[in-house]
Amino acid sequence: MMVQMSQRKPLFAANWKMHKTSAEATSFVRELLSGPMPDSSDYLIAASFTLLSGLRQVIGESPILLAAQNMFFEEQGAFTGEISPLQLKDIGVTHVIIGHSERRHIFGESDELLNKKLLACQNYGLIPVFCLGETSEERESGKAAETIKNQLSLGINGLNAATVENMIVAYEPVWAIGTGKTASPEQVEEMHHLLRQALPDTTRLLYGGSVKPDNSEILLTLPSVDGFLVGGAALDPATFRQIFQ
Ligand code: PEP
Repeated sequence: MMVQMSQRKPLFAANWKMHKTSAEATSFVRELLSGPMPDSSDYLIAASFTLLSGLRQVIGESPILLAAQNMFFEEQGAFTGEISPLQLKDIGVTHVIIGHSERRHIFGESDELLNKKLLACQNYGLIPVFCLGETSEERESGKAAETIKNQLSLGINGLNAATVENMIVAYEPVWAIGTGKTASPEQVEEMHHLLRQALPDTTRLLYGGSVKPDNSEILLTLPSVDGFLVGGAALDPATFRQIFQ
């Protein structure tokens, strides 16, 4: 049965990347919560590991969901500098970004590694925000569609149906992240359509890549867009609010 876009609740996710001290994180949340947060949408903040415990307290019972920006797939062991799914669960984190383009391209995370991380999310009941997207070279050589289809199929390989139904997928063309170049509505629709064909109707599909208040409105009218993953423009609570309002 086809699910209409309206049946997938919109999600607005802030990816703070390697920004903010604890005091800055607290003041962002307080300011955001001082205005309306309509329950017709979901809201998520993905923050650095050092901020997560403190944010859990400040967020409390509010509608904001809390995500880590990465994790390792093992529960514990000699993996200096890594964070495990068990450690994230322990402090009340519910979501994790997996496969952000900065992890893929700066830190060399492969599709195989990301698949292990997604399987670990499944095993520990963490909801992944799985990111994928093509580079400008892949787009220019006509390989954008093939790239994202491969990233999706290799990433979700072996996941059970319930995990895929509940996970969040973010299409983020690498050339649009942090560059000020947003994908056109036609490009977003084309790529989302490909992803949608390979996903259950319930899986939310976000767009990410230089989303700002002045381009969010048109992108949100696209039937294939269930919300956004926002980097730079989500560092300021007023700007983030403009995007979801
Ligand atoms: C991101 O970090 O996922 C992102 C889309 O960043 P920006 O909005 O700054 O392009």
